[in-house]
Amino acid sequence: MKHVLVPGGAGYIGSHTVYALINSGYKVIVVDNLETGFKQAIHPDAVFYHGDIRDSAFINSVLDNEHIDAVIHFAANSLVGESMTNPLKYYDNNLHGTRVLLDAMLKHEIKRIVFSSTAATYGEPERIPILETHRTNPTNTYGETKLAMERMFYWTQAAHGLKYVSLRYFNACGALPGGKIGEAHNPETHLIPIILQAALGKRENIAIYGDDYPTRDGTCVRDYIHVDDLAQAHILAMEHLLNNGSSEIFNLGNGLGFTVKEVIEAAERVVGHPINQIISPRRAGDPAQLVASSEKIIRMLNWQPKMPDIEAIVASAWAWHSTHPNGY
Ligand code: UDP
Repeated sequence: MKHVLVPGGAGYIGSHTVYALINSGYKVIVVDNLETGFKQAIHPDAVFYHGDIRDSAFINSVLDNEHIDAVIHFAANSLVGESMTNPLKYYDNNLHGTRVLLDAMLKHEIKRIVFSSTAATYGEPERIPILETHRTNPTNTYGETKLAMERMFYWTQAAHGLKYVSLRYFNACGALPGGKIGEAHNPETHLIPIILQAALGKRENIAIYGDDYPTRDGTCVRDYIHVDDLAQAHILAMEHLLNNGSSEIFNLGNGLGFTVKEVIEAAERVVGHPINQIISPRRAGDPAQLVASSEKIIRMLNWQPKMPDIEAIVASAWAWHSTHPNGY
């Protein structure tokens, strides 16, 4: 049985990936500082160490205790708005934290890592759909630190033979079928949870950030991908590395773009009633359209999204939010 270290395994995408790993027969060791993650999100069969990846003594002691075959790294801050008001926090946790983790991995001869990157590495896209070879020019600190992480892995590979897969996620959403774990952020900034909080009456309305974009109904187009489809991609990427595969960067989206208004309409069909909405000014740094080409991961790793349908994605999120209106 292979042993997988998952820094950030108590967060949204991390916790779903831990469930998928355990279902696939892996032993999982979670490291999390619980700053934005939740203890209740950690699979009961995972081994859990409470601590911070920036704490070198801590992360080295975890690696002394455990025999680790590969790392799937989620431990990072990921709020675009916050990254603009507090950029150094992002350099510290995302970049410095990853450096400390990487240093400890190399000391312990662990040379395979899959990690979370983002569509925010592209900035304003050159063309739609976005390919991995397109220009990267982040428009926010969050995307900048993720791109810098990719480059850090690239140069470490050249010097130390590290192998990595970077997964550039588009809009992660939905929840584990069965409603055990789901999306919970404080404060919440993501579209689908906010729409569903409005549907539950926990907010007065959903504010649509701009209806004057050059898109079919004036609202932004995004590529929404189910969190379990993301989780499966992490396992495929890790198995690729465990089979001595090459370092790669992959986009992860469905290749389908939906406008903000279309997502609200899908949510109204799921919850069965209208949801209050207002038009607000544009949010700084929002590109009009972000839609992935995931051809590369489909071709190279045989990844196939199982839940590309927006209504099914929203329904899976609703199963979680309607039963956990206050999160964990
Ligand atoms: N959005 C919105 N109202 C909200 C939150 C988000 O209109 O309260 C829009 C946002 O402008 C973007 C899309 O919904 O076009 C997805 O935003 P989210 O923050 O979920 O993800 P992002 O695309 O920023 O990664």
